[in-house]
Amino acid sequence: MQNKLEKKKRITLTSKEVSELIAEGIITIILLLLLNVAIMVLFTQILNNSPDLTDAIYRTKDIFANNLGSDIFWSGRNFMIPFFVLLDVLIVFWRLIRRYRQMQLRHIINELHYIANGNYDYRIPFELRGDLSKVVDSINGLVDSTVAAIEDEREIEKSKDELITNVSHDIRTPLTSIIGYLGLIEDGQYQNKEEILKYTSIAYNKAKQMKSLVEDLFEYSKVRQPSVPVNTVSFDMVQLLEQLAADFELEAHKKAIRIQVDTTENQLVMDGDTEKLVRVFNNLITNALKYGGNADKIVIEIEKTKNEAVVTVKNNGQPIPREALEQLFDRFYRVDGSRSQEISGTGLGLAIAQNIINLHGGYIYAQSNEEWTSFIIHLPLYKNQMKSFQDNH
Ligand code: ATP
Ligand code: MG
Repeated sequence: MQNKLEKKKRITLTSKEVSELIAEGIITIILLLLLNVAIMVLFTQILNNSPDLTDAIYRTKDIFANNLGSDIFWSGRNFMIPFFVLLDVLIVFWRLIRRYRQMQLRHIINELHYIANGNYDYRIPFELRGDLSKVVDSINGLVDSTVAAIEDEREIEKSKDELITNVSHDIRTPLTSIIGYLGLIEDGQYQNKEEILKYTSIAYNKAKQMKSLVEDLFEYSKVRQPSVPVNTVSFDMVQLLEQLAADFELEAHKKAIRIQVDTTENQLVMDGDTEKLVRVFNNLITNALKYGGNADKIVIEIEKTKNEAVVTVKNNGQPIPREALEQLFDRFYRVDGSRSQEISGTGLGLAIAQNIINLHGGYIYAQSNEEWTSFIIHLPLYKNQMKSFQDNH
């Protein structure tokens, strides 16, 4: 929005407007002069017709003249002229200012029409004083927020389109092989019973893959909704993670990976939606098992700070390239290697995890070096801290 940065400028009147102002000034002066003459004539006549009034005025002038030591009141009937001149100047000034304001308003309205014609990057650039400046600021603010709302809407539209494209792609791939293998069986293109079993087993696995994609997608769209309820309960994070580590022990053992929980706390009681948090840790541990490469260790560290629980799930083994780190939490993002190695996954796990942690008012990020690939989660300990976070965002 380059125009937005445009320097503020004063409104410059067109030559037509300047002529209008001059004409207005001249006409006002003529009208005022006529009015002055008319008042003077009327006043003289009244004075001539009433000697008592004349007397009273002359006495008043006398008193003023003596007190002020000035004789301006003795300059015959012309004593009214300075008052008239002053009054006239004020009236002319007032009318011209009013007319000038109208012209400024006209300029602002023209700018508004320009914006309304689709130039949403444009902002009214005038430097004004007083109420008009507030009007211009409010208009500019209104245009800003409207444009931001339109852009947000577009962004959402775009990301929905992307989601549909990605999902259709990821569903089509396993579906094609399911149809392919079932087709072979249907057409009798197999040698023996083993081959039928092989084909059905492939079709079955692909169907499971599709199911997990649909489930992930369902979960993802659920946690994306800002109104999704977080069923917070008080629980012991140490106990929860130790239990999870035990659940994964067998799977880890098969891969010759040792899984351990590291903490100095005996227990860490905090608030959170355990069902959702378990989903997050499940994904992190599964990821460490799936993508750890030649890893032989998964460590879950738990720390407690003044008002946060910090949980790190880390594995040694193949590091994640630096440029991939930033995109890990994007939905459907999978590091190249994992796609090519045909490790099954949808790339939604970390996007879901991030949403769940955000719902709790916390944050998650990844670090990776030669030694460790770590996913670090910061969670507020108590529900009231989550609320203040969610209100602020
Ligand atoms: P899903 O979890 O939805 O089944 P996924 O595991 O591929 O699929 P994410 O959990 O979002 O999706 O992970 C995204 C990608 O991040 C993975 O595909 C993998 O490339 C990379 N990744 C995640 N954890 C690790 C890890 N511990 N070590 C190396 N790479 C990882
Ligand atoms: Mg995963």
